[in-house]
Amino acid sequence: MNRRTFLKKTTAGMLAAGLASGIPVKNGYAQGKTFRWRMVTSWPPGFPILQTGVERFVTRVAQLSGGRLQIRVFAGGELVPPLGVFDAVSQGSAQMGHSASYYWAGKCPAAQWFTSVPFGFNAQGMNSWLYYGGGLRLWEEIYRDFNLVPRPAGNTGVQMGGWFNKRIDSLKDFKGLKMRIPGLGGKVLARAGGTVVLLPGGEIYTSLERGVIDATEWVGPCHDLRMGFQRVAKFYYGPGWHEPGSTLELTINKDAYDGLPVDLRAVIDTAAAELNVQMLSEFETENARALERLRSKSKVKILTFPTPVLEGLKKLSVATLEDEAARDSQATKVHRSYLAFKRVMEGWSELSEKQYYNVMLG
Ligand code: CA
Repeated sequence: MNRRTFLKKTTAGMLAAGLASGIPVKNGYAQGKTFRWRMVTSWPPGFPILQTGVERFVTRVAQLSGGRLQIRVFAGGELVPPLGVFDAVSQGSAQMGHSASYYWAGKCPAAQWFTSVPFGFNAQGMNSWLYYGGGLRLWEEIYRDFNLVPRPAGNTGVQMGGWFNKRIDSLKDFKGLKMRIPGLGGKVLARAGGTVVLLPGGEIYTSLERGVIDATEWVGPCHDLRMGFQRVAKFYYGPGWHEPGSTLELTINKDAYDGLPVDLRAVIDTAAAELNVQMLSEFETENARALERLRSKSKVKILTFPTPVLEGLKKLSVATLEDEAARDSQATKVHRSYLAFKRVMEGWSELSEKQYYNVMLG
């Protein structure tokens, strides 16, 4: 046995016996208390990108923690209803959740800004504001009241504007239009004279088919195609001005998070950041592929809203956000932070991204 082999074997032997570091070691991993957690999501079982992304996330947490943090995932409806995630994690019946913060607008109006607001940031802007513009600090501060720790954990990228059965040539075409469009986007549509119809995911297709609604938005090409909207709508409009980069949220029960050793808290934060990157990358890839399929295999007309329509909606959105923010002191604070950061980013984006895309895609 040469010296190197001897050292290797001895070190491995010492590690296996837990002698080298003083920490008990098994199978090469530090040992300690094992935490078994439950995680609930708002997504259907097997739902591409969102639920599958969460499944990958818990595997990564198990790997990175050397098996000391084991998380069992429950899809929407399996343990709690899809929109029961916030309460379940807040109360501790599950230690973790994956959802979108704008679903909780009724309990916490400010939460809407942490997902997406009409004509707000894209994914890149959201990440910049959250990680480096004070956004996440505000989010943590606001969620502390609910005993929750939030982490950005995925982004849909720019969504699509939706499926329509009549052309949208001017802002007037929204008058009387019955559309399934939730949240702040819906409030803007109502301001444009439209009628917002709230429908669960499972009822949208037949409602559009039977003319109960004239239009609907959903997510982007990948998920929209699975819903089959191309079979019951004539026009598919972009861009999704109402959700230009929706951040998904990971929530952790604060007592559970604070009760973890520091390395396991770092595991969660790291895996969440990884999920944040991976989900956006998967959304972008799958949306691009699905759009190609839609173009080659369906007769639906793919259009962009005319610029004056978008400009009109943007004006209505500014007023809607001002009104929404004024109704709640936390929302006022978050809106102010968001706008201040947006002003800084706009100068830079004008010179960098905008000019670049004009040439690259022009
Ligand atoms: Ca949407």
